[in-house]
Amino acid sequence: MNKIQFHNTLSSQVEEFTPISSNNIKMYVCGITPYDRCHLGHARCYVVFDTIRRYFEYSGYNVEYVQNFTDIDDKIINRSKELNIGYKELAEKFIDDFFENCKKINIKPASEYPRVSQHIPEILATITRLVEKGYAYAVEGDVYYSVKKFEGYGKLSKRNTDDLLVGARIAPGEKKRDPLDFALWKASKPEEPSWDSPWGKGRPGWHIECSAMSLHEIGTETLDIHGGGQDLIFPHHENEIAQSEAATGKPFANYWIHNGFVTINKEKMSKSLGNFFALSDIFAKYAPPVVRLFLISQHYRTPLDFSDNKLEQAKNGWERITRAKEIAENLIPSAPEGGLTQFHKNLADEYVKKFTESMNNDFNTSEALAALHGLVNQLYSFETDRSSDINKSAIKYSLSKLTEICGVLGFILPSRQAANDEIMSLVQQRLDARKNKDFAKADEIRKKIDSLGYVVEDTPSGPRVRQVNVK
Ligand SMILES: [Zn+2]
Repeated sequence: MNKIQFHNTLSSQVEEFTPISSNNIKMYVCGITPYDRCHLGHARCYVVFDTIRRYFEYSGYNVEYVQNFTDIDDKIINRSKELNIGYKELAEKFIDDFFENCKKINIKPASEYPRVSQHIPEILATITRLVEKGYAYAVEGDVYYSVKKFEGYGKLSKRNTDDLLVGARIAPGEKKRDPLDFALWKASKPEEPSWDSPWGKGRPGWHIECSAMSLHEIGTETLDIHGGGQDLIFPHHENEIAQSEAATGKPFANYWIHNGFVTINKEKMSKSLGNFFALSDIFAKYAPPVVRLFLISQHYRTPLDFSDNKLEQAKNGWERITRAKEIAENLIPSAPEGGLTQFHKNLADEYVKKFTESMNNDFNTSEALAALHGLVNQLYSFETDRSSDINKSAIKYSLSKLTEICGVLGFILPSRQAANDEIMSLVQQRLDARKNKDFAKADEIRKKIDSLGYVVEDTPSGPRVRQVNVK
């Protein structure tokens, strides 16, 4: 099995991964609050964790991957008032948008998608446990977590409670005893969605859901891996640790992975900052695999700056990758028969080795993509290299490795449609026009072929036609 090392936010170090139970991984990633359309920042987070999950699976692990939906919170309530629709209806609409986009960009479905509104009893049980253990207290229908009672508070975000107290205030209307305390349960206002609890009608605070749902949905007190965006480290993940570890007395997660932001002109992308790029708008301009390629073009922990220029680069990269498959498929029928030589096997294996070494080293997708492009270049060279004995088996083997690496990174290589009779007839007419030196007519026919989604390329062995813009 691959020795996989990655950066653990908890230790601030790159560590070798050891799962709790042989080759099974329990992984929890914080999900979206479905109150608006998914944006590029969401796509980066879930593409990153999908790629990590796929790489674990490729390395022989079984991964139980759970991702929640925060379908009840302030943002949901405010937006549903704004749009004058029920909170459930609102959440449903944007959960559908999320699934639609995930499918397009080829994110594997999670093992489970627990929703807050469907886990109120588990949430209440976890809060009750915290109250009983003295880590939480109720005031007039609210329940707060007493941060100072939990000794390890700040260990993930490397903050201490003294520093946190500087500038901390109790907002008007909050009934907590200490500015650092946070709400586990909030008494609901009239007309807001509410549930019965031992403290009266109310709804959960934001952080408790992940503690309750990982405990009850995955059924474990300690997760192997907990993930999310860097913006969740504090306070969300710090509070999750405080809640879970106070309730169980066990470590909440052995490894914490956080992805960097997507920035636009170096500013963090988010709905609240107004630089909001809805994924569905971007997909109208760039095919989803192009966007996926852009999203993994840099190491997951570094900020990723959005620009049309970078997306154009990704578009060219994707075109080259898909073209390599096409070249191989065109070469195979006429290539000489023969077995796979060790020499040709090694050529492709060398790139697979570079790919796994890069992924084993903190999921370095930018280096992994360099290995993939090495393999792409090799397939291109088969087309022009007439000196060596490249046979069917050699081409097929390299193509299989290309497909394999693409699969791990979440790319499905499209199959281009062969040109139909109409297009082939146009290709012939263009050839005839060129023979007759009627270049204006030849050019006109080429434009017609372009408009049908195909391009003609003139090669020494005659014109070659291929489909473009395959999505
Ligand atoms: Zn969470």
